[in-house]
Amino acid sequence: MSRVYLLGAGFSQAAGAPLLRDAMKKGVLACKDYANLGEVKIWLEKLFAPQHGVDSLNFEEVLSRLDLELHYNKYEEEEKKQLELVKEEVVSLFLNALEQCSKQKLPEEYYIFARRLQPEDVVINLNYDLVLENALLATKRFYPDYKLLFSGQTVPGLISFPVLKPHGSLNLYYCPHCLRVCQLKTQDYSGIINKYRILGGCGHFLRPLIITPTLYKSYGLEEMRQIWFNCLTALIQAQKIIFIGYSLPKADVLVAQMLDFAQRLNKNNLEVEVVNGISPDLRAIASLYQGRIINSGKSFREWVKGV
Ligand SMILES: [Zn+2]
Repeated sequence: MSRVYLLGAGFSQAAGAPLLRDAMKKGVLACKDYANLGEVKIWLEKLFAPQHGVDSLNFEEVLSRLDLELHYNKYEEEEKKQLELVKEEVVSLFLNALEQCSKQKLPEEYYIFARRLQPEDVVINLNYDLVLENALLATKRFYPDYKLLFSGQTVPGLISFPVLKPHGSLNLYYCPHCLRVCQLKTQDYSGIINKYRILGGCGHFLRPLIITPTLYKSYGLEEMRQIWFNCLTALIQAQKIIFIGYSLPKADVLVAQMLDFAQRLNKNNLEVEVVNGISPDLRAIASLYQGRIINSGKSFREWVKGV
């Protein structure tokens, strides 16, 4: 039976990864020892939160809006440069915060989950962190395979396990000149405060591959199109889809569209299970898969441990 696991922020929560809605407050703005933080705060407040303050902002919203500002507004060259820097700093701060939690030892439910995966399964992971990847490697059976066309890393002796990350990842970068995505080794990015100062093998500075739901198209990367296509194919062939910590928020228009398209083409007797805690909001998922949803009513931990 081929299963597709669709992981959202709720999956990584128990591993200490900041939820996106808390990412500004707990990740970005909590880096008190960061010299430019004051300046970044002033910019963000001026642009997006003159009344409610920076604490009220959501990381993905900030990133989307910064990109839109840069794309549509007619700033003077100097001001545009400043805004680019603010974006770089926000993304770098966020990635540094994620990196910290990626170093922690994981609760055992993640290892149990990784050991239960079968080679024919596929994980679609909408998170940027490496919680699942670390758990997979710890099984000593699988290594996470991002299905990149040019620069994926293999681990000799272990089986490739597809981990599709359509929103990007902490360890994925792209070259804005060559338009290639590359998977970096931990030592290549870890501890580097400014994530926009990492040189790629091509000799250009790389950019973190952190794609907010509204911005996917603007990147125009062939490999990301391929990853989305792989997600679609897996969903069409799936016999069971298991949502973990993901309730299909309104902003994820592209994911919703992909799920809808796939379920219409799926010729299997598709089962859908939701692992989103005791009383999840099932409206968005239910409207896609009418009558086929099994609601576990459990958190990820309870579900894995079968309690
Ligand atoms: Zn390049």
